Order: sequence, then structure tokens, then C-alpha cells
Amino acid sequence: MSANNLHPKTTNETVLAYAPGSAERTALIAELAAQQTRQVDIHAVVNGERIASGSHTDVCAPHAHARKLGRVHNAEAATIHASIDAAVAAQRDWANASLAERSAVFLRAADLLAGPWRARLNAATMLGQGKTCYQAEIDAACELIDFLRFNVQFAHEIANGQPLSSPGMRNHLEYRPLEGFVYAVTPFNFTAIGGNLAIAPALMGNTVVWKPAATASLSNYLFMELLEAAGLPQGVINFLPGDPVAVSGAVLARPELAGIHFTGSTAVFDTLWGEVGRNVSRYRSYPRLVGETGGKDFVLAHASADAGTLAVALLRGAFEYQGQKCSAASRAYIPASLWPEVRDRLVAMVETIRMGDVTDFTNFMGAVIDRRAFDRIAGHLQRAAADSGVKLVAGGRADDSVGYFIAPTVLEVSDPRHTLMETELFGPVLSVYVYADEHWPEVLSLVDGTSPYALTGAVFATDRAAIAQASDALRYAAGNFYINDKPTGAVVGQQPFGGARRSGTNDKAGSPLNLLRWVSPRTVKETFVPPADYRYPHMAA
Ligand code: NAD
Repeated sequence: MSANNLHPKTTNETVLAYAPGSAERTALIAELAAQQTRQVDIHAVVNGERIASGSHTDVCAPHAHARKLGRVHNAEAATIHASIDAAVAAQRDWANASLAERSAVFLRAADLLAGPWRARLNAATMLGQGKTCYQAEIDAACELIDFLRFNVQFAHEIANGQPLSSPGMRNHLEYRPLEGFVYAVTPFNFTAIGGNLAIAPALMGNTVVWKPAATASLSNYLFMELLEAAGLPQGVINFLPGDPVAVSGAVLARPELAGIHFTGSTAVFDTLWGEVGRNVSRYRSYPRLVGETGGKDFVLAHASADAGTLAVALLRGAFEYQGQKCSAASRAYIPASLWPEVRDRLVAMVETIRMGDVTDFTNFMGAVIDRRAFDRIAGHLQRAAADSGVKLVAGGRADDSVGYFIAPTVLEVSDPRHTLMETELFGPVLSVYVYADEHWPEVLSLVDGTSPYALTGAVFATDRAAIAQASDALRYAAGNFYINDKPTGAVVGQQPFGGARRSGTNDKAGSPLNLLRWVSPRTVKETFVPPADYRYPHMAA
């Protein structure tokens, strides 16, 4: 890779407002109508070819589960192997393409997404993944466009990182892609993450087998089509929907596996890591394992915090996209002196939240992703209702008659180690522990030690000393730490994203740190006039 074609500094894509009467709203409404009247066959795409299968999984709208949007063709064993063969076969040509050539594909994809494809990807994300138009816009449009553009900028910065050359020689770091293929396994909750896990290794010259989550496969399949429209050569990214266990089992058994780019739950990443461990001596290279996983993200308020802004942050942080962001606020620690005001403000706002069909733009929330998620979260709510140590502050209802709706719920727990404070629920449920103001130092340790995760967290305080204490005590409790802001909403290029402990390998999506995992540099030294005599001057008589 060489940095032979520098381009202007990238800026973040502007978030469109979708106000009544706006052009973007008109286009989105038309696209939503069109996508609701058709059903898409979501095929595997191997070397540019669509491959059907006899086994299907329906894709339904979470807010109206009777509405079928398409069906996934689950890849069969022959298709799985064909996709790996295609990735391996495409590797040499793609690796040999210059960074400028590869970048052009992704920059063109960004412009297509910012323009003619924007409504298409947003509508698919709204319908298939249950996002409101704003949540879809910041994900499927803006974040994905940012990934496409910023990755290109970061790749050039990496390529420019070169060692010293002393007189008489030239040293060069060649940022080779990995030898083999990268397996991208992607989650349901962000179209942008699905896309980025495939494109980041590809930009660095790798070829990819991309296994999407079934529930996100509609938007992910459209993004695959967009990449093709942008000129991505066949075989560079192979789209492989299917049964996750069968697909992963076959993929991880192949010696050409060079890396895994995963986002999803901690349990699944553990499974993949374990399988790689068992197979390790079969691989040609040690696979790079990059995984961003679960979270139990905290909001910690100090007695000096502003109750109004805290209540808004709790609501947005916990309930936007139904709490299905890995960064969602799900455990809060509020001082007793502040709680009555925060609680009253929060409850008053929660009662005004409109939840329903995401094609109704007045709604703030939609449904959770599927039956499995609904049952899991509803089960937690039922157990909480029967638990004398848990007080229902707001919400608590679950209704799956039309869609998988869980009301935004606030629970107050008396035990700060309650499972509600430790376990990732991945739904619109905020658990609150109210602490005595004077226990601030103990609460810092509590926040740090309660959950196995360390993804995002926020501290609210106006007292600078308290902010400094929290920042120090919680240094390892979050990979993305917020001061007087909600713990969600990281922006590519501004807040590189990822956490440590059981939240993942912290390879910071949306930064050069992530792209560096997809290269295996070769150091090249060329000597211009090599010595003609083996003897050194000190050896003279
Ligand atoms: P998930 O783990 O259920 O699925 C993720 C991917 O793994 C999907 O493609 C799925 O099909 C696949 N998969 C499922 N079981 C598998 C198995 N046994 N073997 C191989 N692959 C398997 O996660 P999800 O429900 O799609 O997403 C929610 C989770 O993702 C939450 O835990 C959330 O915190 C996490 N997440 C983390 C980040 C982050 O940056 N840290 C971002 C988004 C989501």
C-alpha cells in the first residue's frame, strides 16, 4: 500500500432533520411505502453471484411482526465453502490494487449513500431493525458514510507512517493485508457496524466473508448491493447469511482464516475465540481476533449534578432505539439528595414518550428486535415485579400482540449488586440505585466493580474535583467515558469506540487503531551501495 493520492480532510456527514415538508422526509416516506409492498429475497452473494437456498428465515418488521419484508436464503455448506474460495481467489488482485484504487470504491459508496441510496438504506433499517427515522439516519446514513470516508483518511495516515532512512539506504514499511480472508460477523443493531466490519478490512486490502445477523439482513443486503454499485470487485466481500453455528463452524475450520471482525454478544465472541483456540495449529497465520461485545453501561451522578440535564441524558441514553445500543445507559447511581427531583422529571418525560410503528414519525420509540429479545426482557420485568427489592418507577409493560413492544421502564433497586445492575438486558430498562450522598467514594468502587463489562459510562457533576475523582477511579470501567453527557452516540472520527474487560478487544472502530489490526506490515530495507569488503576499519594492522 502506498499513500500516493492524498485527499482533503474528511468531515462528518450532516444529520438531516426530516422535518415536515422537507425533501428528505418526502423521499423517505416514498421509499418506506415501496419497501412495505415488496418482499426481498436475500441471497448469499458469492463472487458477485446470487445463490439461493432451500432453507429460509423470514425477515419481519419488529413493530408489526405479521408484516413480512423478505426472506433470507440460509447458505448451505457448498455455498459457505464457495464464499471462502472466492475470497481467497480474489485476494491477490485486491491486495495488489493501490490504496488509491481501493479508496475510490469506498468514497464512491459514501457518495452514493449520502445521495441516491440514503432513503433506501434508512427505510430498510427502520422497517427491518425497528428504528425511528432519526435513529436510522444517524446509523445507516451518517455513521456508515463516516466509516466509509474516515477509514479512507485513516488508511492514508497509516500508509504515511514510515521509518527513518539513513544516508545510503531506503527503508519502507509495506502495509500488507493479512494473508488469507477475514470473517466479519455482524450484529443486528447497527447497519453501520454491519457495513464497517466488512469494509474496514477490505479497504486495507483484505478479502472478506461477511455473515450478517438475520434480523439486519435486509439493510445489510442493500448495503452489499450498494458496494457492488460503487464498483467493488467480485469476491472481495462475499455476503453469507445463514445459520450462525453452521456457517461459523465451517469458516473457522479453514486454514486460510486470517482474522475475525466481530460485534455482538460476549457469549458468542467467547465461542468464536474458543473455536479458534482449538483450531490454532491448523491456521496458516495466527488469526487476528477483533471483537466488540456487550455492555452494562453506567451513569453516575454526583450530588453537584444538574438534575434537569441528568434526567434528559438518562432518558435518551436508556430508551433511544429501545435501549438496544451496546452503549445504552442501563444502570444509574443517583445520590439521595438528587433522586426525588431526577425521578419526578424522568417519570414526567417517560409518560410523554410515544412508542409504536416507526413509519409514524411522531413516535420516539419502536419495538425490540424479535421474539427472543421480547421474551428475555419481558421475563426480567416479570421477575422484577415479583421482587420486593425492586420498585417500579415507570413503565413495566410488555405487549407483543402487534409488535414486540416493551414500555420504557425505570426500576429502583435496593441492592446495588442486584442482577438488574449487572446483566446486560439489551432493552428499554434502566435500573437505578440511590446512594447516600456521603457514600460517594464507596460508590466509585461499586460502579467499577459491579459488572464484568467496561464499554461506556458517564459521570454527571458540576464539581470539578468529583469529575476528576470519577475519571480516575473509573479509568478501566469504560472504554468510552462521558462527562455531563449520555453514554451513547459516539461519532466516527470524534469518539473512537470500544471497551475492554468483557466488552471486547477495544480496537476502537472508527479510528486508525482498528485498521491497523487488518495489516501485517513488511519492512523493506534497500541499500544503495552495498559494502564490497567484509573487514571493518578497526581491523587494520
Ligand atoms: P449476537 O451475539 O446474538 O449476534 C451477533 C452475530 O453473531 C450475528 O451475526 C449472529 O448471527 C452471530 N451468532 C450468533 N450466535 C452465534 C454462534 N453460536 N456462533 C457464531 N455466530 C453466532 O448479538 P446481537 O443480538 O446481534 O447484538 C447485540 C449484542 O451486540 C449486545 O450484546 C451488544 O452489547 C453487542 N454490541 C456491541 C457493540 C460494541 O461496539 N461493543 C456494538 C453493537 C452491539
